[in-house]
Formats: sequence, C-alpha cells, structure tokens
Amino acid sequence: MEQMQQILSSKSEALIKKENNYGAHNYHPLPVVLEKGEGVFVWDVDGKKYYDFLSAYSAVNQGHCHPKIVGAMVEQAQKLTLTSRAFYNDQLGVYEEYVTKYFGFDKVLPMNTGAEAVETALKLCRKWAYEVKGIAENQAQIIVCENNFHGRTTTIISFSNDETARRSFGPFTEGFIKIEYDNLDALKKVLESSQNIAGFLVEPIQGEAGVYVPSEGFLAKAKALCDKHNVLFIADEVQTGIARTGKLLAVHHENVQPDILILGKALSGGVYPVSAVLANNNIMNVIKPGQHGSTFGGNPVAAAVAIAALEVIKEEELAENAERLGVILRKGLNEIAAKNPLITLVRGKGLLNAIVIDCDEESDLAWEICLKFRDYGLLAKPTHGNKIRLAPPLVITENQIQDCLSIIEKALNDFK
Ligand code: PMP
Repeated sequence: MEQMQQILSSKSEALIKKENNYGAHNYHPLPVVLEKGEGVFVWDVDGKKYYDFLSAYSAVNQGHCHPKIVGAMVEQAQKLTLTSRAFYNDQLGVYEEYVTKYFGFDKVLPMNTGAEAVETALKLCRKWAYEVKGIAENQAQIIVCENNFHGRTTTIISFSNDETARRSFGPFTEGFIKIEYDNLDALKKVLESSQNIAGFLVEPIQGEAGVYVPSEGFLAKAKALCDKHNVLFIADEVQTGIARTGKLLAVHHENVQPDILILGKALSGGVYPVSAVLANNNIMNVIKPGQHGSTFGGNPVAAAVAIAALEVIKEEELAENAERLGVILRKGLNEIAAKNPLITLVRGKGLLNAIVIDCDEESDLAWEICLKFRDYGLLAKPTHGNKIRLAPPLVITENQIQDCLSIIEKALNDFK
C-alpha cells in the first residue's frame, strides 16, 4: 500500500478513490488508471505508456481502438443504434451470414457478453436434449470441468469450483456433473453412466484457471466420445477464440468442429460488447420466438462492429502472428526461467500464456511482480497468487515481444 501511494500521482489516486467510494467492490484492479489505448499500448492519466499484456482478458486481440473497428462503430452509430429485435435491421442479416460462414455453422444467436452466451448455449443444449434427443423433461445433465470459468451468473456459478464466487449466492441451478479437466476416462465414465447426458461444456484451454492447456488429443478424443453418445460438444471459446491461440479457434488445433460454439470478447475487438452462439440447424432450430432474447443482442452497431473485427483478424493475419510470436515469447520466457528460479513453468498456446511463480497459490508474490511490471511499463494481472497470464494484443511485433521480455526479465530480477 505504501509503495502504491509513493508511485501513484495525485490524479490517479483521486480517480481510484472515486471508484472505491462510489463503485461496488466487485473487482480488485491493479492500481493504474488508464485513459487511452492504441494497438498494443495503453496510457495512464499521467501520460505513462504501457504494454498491455492482458488485452482485457483477450478481448482486445485486434489491438486497442483499431481504426477499422472503431470506424465501423462510429459510422453505424450515426445512422441507427438500436431497434431491439422487435423489428429487422439492415445490418443483422448481413452479419449473421458473415459470421456463420466464417466459422462454418448454419445459424447464430446473437448476444452481448460472454456469460450471456454461455447461458444461451446451456439453454439451447437442454432444449435440444428434450426435443431432439428425447431426454425426459427436467432430467438433462450437462458435463462441466473442474476449475472452469464461464462467467458469473447464478447458473454459471452453480458449477464453479471457486468458493469466493459461490459462497452466499445459493441456491444454485441443478443439472451439472463435474469431471476433472483433461481426463478422458472421467468423461467416458460419466457418458456411459447415464442416458440423460445432453452436453459437455469445455474451455479448449482453461484461461482463468491459469492458462491450463490440456494434453494433445484431449479435445479431439472428447469430441469423438460425445459423438458416440449423441452428446453435444459445447466449446466456450470466449477467451481462446478469434485467433488468440494461433488458430481462429483453439479447437482447430485438433480439427474439432464443436456442436455449439460460444464466442465473445474479441468478436468485437473489445470495442463494444458482442457475443454469439453458433450451431447447425438441427440444434438451433429448437429455439422458437419468445424462448430467448436480449434487447441489445444483434443490434446494428454490434453487427457492424463484429464484421469489422472479424475482417481485421483475416486481413492482418493475426492467427498466424499469434502462432509465430507465441513461440518466440515462450522461448524467451523459458530462457529467463533458466536464469531465474523464480519461474517454475512457462505454458500456453499462441499468445495466451502464463508463467508459474515459485510460491503458493495464496501468496502475494505474483501481485507484487505485476506491480513491478507496471513500474517498468507492462501491464499484466495474476490469475492466482503464483500465476501471471501474459496475453498481449495479437498485433504485437517481434521487436515489441523482445522489448517486453527485457522488461519481464528486469522486473523478475528485482525479486531474485
Ligand atoms: N467464458 C470464458 C472462457 C471466459 O474466459 C469468460 C471471461 N473471462 C467468460 C466466459 C465470461 O465472459 P464475460 O465476462 O463477457 O461475461
């Protein structure tokens, strides 16, 4: 605290105080107050420039304030912003055709946030289970994984392991069976144990769990098991999708096409809240008017923004960049780890990575290291007391990666 007070300007301190006084304390932000962003950089209210190594939890894959995406938003906002779905709008159908062809599905259900899209996918899976698979009403079960993160709504925290997120928020939603992540035997056992399994909800890499990458082949084999049992494979690619891991989707590393795909975050490049659930007609057609919706979902600004955001991914070859620079980043981090025993593990895929620090999960060390990164001009955030996620915007260059590696090394040397 003392250190923070020495470093922060009175302007930053005053703004932090305002948030603390008038905002609910539902986050624990790193003490830095940002006012501007461009590409891989953000600036604080005192004009100090930082590399952004969080990318708003992988929402800003296309870089901060990408001119094409912001341009699409501004142009559309000057024409028409919201009609609700009570009427058609001239942007939505165009976007729906674009996004479904882009990801290879028949239909999309547009929403706003990641958690909303997860809720949508769960409802869709249940309805499919009753109407198509023939499971008796109220009996459908969905398999989820330990240490998952899918959002913070009441249903989603019903199957979270995170006691802080759950305590005193019950009663919870039923119908979920939890298995160990990356455990095919556990999945097989549950699939064989009941006729009432409707779906398997999985993050292709567990982001909030500390960038936990499953064993090679897990996703493809899990998909094959789901197919065998007529169970929907539901990929939550809210954090891993849209080029973050070096492919358009993280499931593409194993040539998997999910039955239900959940997207959010970078679907708008972080410019505007846009999320989506994609599926083929045999699944999506179970949803009828009045059964699901959102006033803002599929609004014309969201549609225009999402098309621009997806075009940028292809035009700027951001998946290829993430793949190539991810290798360079992990190589550099491993070199630092070889010299500094504080780093015990480097892991990740593409530009979704983490370092594991030699201390326990409850430690303050990862937080202290992130404060040091901040002082040296790089912003990252711990997922746990001993893990720091490193996930810059995908527009980062090789020179910038090298520069960031120097910052990371210098900061970690202060803790040797
Ligand atoms: N699913 C995953 C895998 C996520 O990482 C997140 C957010 N970190 C969400 C869902 C929830 O998204 P949102 O915060 O937009 O509700």
